[in-house]
Amino acid sequence: SEESNMIVAVRVRPLNALECTRGQVTNVVQVHGDSNELTVQAGCSADASAGVTHFFSYDQVYYSCDPERKNYAGQAKVFEGTARPLIDTAFDGYNACLFAYGQTGSGKSYSMMGIEALDDAALDGGPPHDEAGIIPRFCHELFRRIEEVKAHQQLQVEVEVSYFEIYNEKIHDLLSVQHATTAAGDSTPVQQQRPALKVREHPIFGPYVVDLSAHSVDSYSALRNWLAVGNSQRATASTAMNDKSSRSHSIFNIVLNLTNLSSGDEGLSSSDTDSGTVNSLRQTRRSKISLVDLAGSERISVSGSNGERIREGVSINKSLLTLGKVIAALADSRKAVGNSQMGNGTPTTFVPYRESVLTWLLRENLGGNSKTVMLATISPASLHADETLATLRYACKARSIVNRVKVNESPHD
Ligand code: ADP
Ligand code: MG
Repeated sequence: SEESNMIVAVRVRPLNALECTRGQVTNVVQVHGDSNELTVQAGCSADASAGVTHFFSYDQVYYSCDPERKNYAGQAKVFEGTARPLIDTAFDGYNACLFAYGQTGSGKSYSMMGIEALDDAALDGGPPHDEAGIIPRFCHELFRRIEEVKAHQQLQVEVEVSYFEIYNEKIHDLLSVQHATTAAGDSTPVQQQRPALKVREHPIFGPYVVDLSAHSVDSYSALRNWLAVGNSQRATASTAMNDKSSRSHSIFNIVLNLTNLSSGDEGLSSSDTDSGTVNSLRQTRRSKISLVDLAGSERISVSGSNGERIREGVSINKSLLTLGKVIAALADSRKAVGNSQMGNGTPTTFVPYRESVLTWLLRENLGGNSKTVMLATISPASLHADETLATLRYACKARSIVNRVKVNESPHD
């Protein structure tokens, strides 16, 4: 296995119309040119002399505030930098994960899914439009690459998708079969109260969701249909319960299986260097890609007036709180490994993966066998400066996480 640092990217959304009309709201986040550094002016709205400049540096910084600026990063640029490299990762047989983290309204869903265009072009498999987010772009590019590779190699390709959300530590399938009959987006939920699903440990593949539906797709348009079903499920559920979308985590999984059918002299991918060992076995490479839109990271007030809200707050905090603990433990154990003579990458600190559903399911993606990208989204508005600083500090911590990755490869049977 080899080491792979978690890549941490930060995206700054534009001030919205409401913020612009409020005179006292100013833009406190500055990105200088094409650098991967940003500064936040804190405390400047009250008194200019109290202003403190906080400085941060990341692997990537995307400034999406002003389309007129040279360093403006729209949806395409964010996809190219954060997610496109994960296509190679998947084809090479590594697991991959990209998750969006940030306060509600900072642009997580806009970045991950974008603005929905359920027009005919999208459903017919046409390219995603300008405001499409990372997930549709990733899926479109994945199938484009599959066609490209198939033109050169005898390859059997299987793509399977699943989509679920975690709310109150309970897992709900967004593509359950009851909703599957009409995949064109006009599905009527048969069962409003679907049963919550459980997590179990598979001896080889690790944690998984029991009875989660998985759907085989052979084209981008087929995949796009499932995405539409899941998104409408998500929307229906969050309208029924106010604000649910900001407190649930959604996870879109793609499993890519590649089987080499040619008689052995060429490897599965162009990046193969072990051509000395001619392999006449059929090889299967498997990659699991998880694209995650997390719940809002803001602290939810526990002084809410109704009981339901308090309970939600507590368990949402549980998944995000545990994510914070996991990241902190991994960062600490990294430091410990660096200081000791062990150096074998084994965490020296207990990592509490199983304390929440989210971290249990993302265990391989956090410090395990996965190339992982964190996209931290922030608002530039002065009134969000505290949450922005909290997100940026969290993102800094995540930068020190190192995963140990290996190709998922097995002789075909
Ligand atoms: P979150 O999912 O983090 O709660 P959203 O993605 O829903 O936040 O974004 C909140 C609002 O801001 C939405 O109306 C969204 O369209 C808009 N928005 C977010 N990021 C951008 C961006 N980079 N460019 C333009 N509009 C954005
Ligand atoms: Mg959202």
